[in-house]
Amino acid sequence: MPEPVITLKGFFERAREGALTGIRCGRCGELAIPPKEFCLCGQRAWEQVPLAGEGTVVSYTVIRVAAARYAAEAPYAVAVVRLQEGVQLLGRVVDVPLDRVAVGLRVKFRPLVRNGQTAIGFGPA
Ligand SMILES: [Zn+2]
Repeated sequence: MPEPVITLKGFFERAREGALTGIRCGRCGELAIPPKEFCLCGQRAWEQVPLAGEGTVVSYTVIRVAAARYAAEAPYAVAVVRLQEGVQLLGRVVDVPLDRVAVGLRVKFRPLVRNGQTAIGFGPA
């Protein structure tokens, strides 16, 4: 039996431990991350899929003027990363000099935990 569908809360709890979990539709095979309720095909027949967390940058933006709570951290880069399993995930790039951030850069998932909140980060592969 497949495990129950992971919740968004569960997704971030696991992310905090360093594990990325995707979900795959049992009907059409669509892989999604982070978890959502319904597949594009209208089904809710998800199974969990562990993801390796490795991927490449497909697009990125350098945030130079951030919202007040992140202002002290700007500038920083936010990237869309295509994971090796084929899904894309938005995250903050850490421990990579801004002038090295580029499309095609290989990165690896790492959790960013701040004030008890977990966010998606990507560091050097
Ligand atoms: Zn589907």
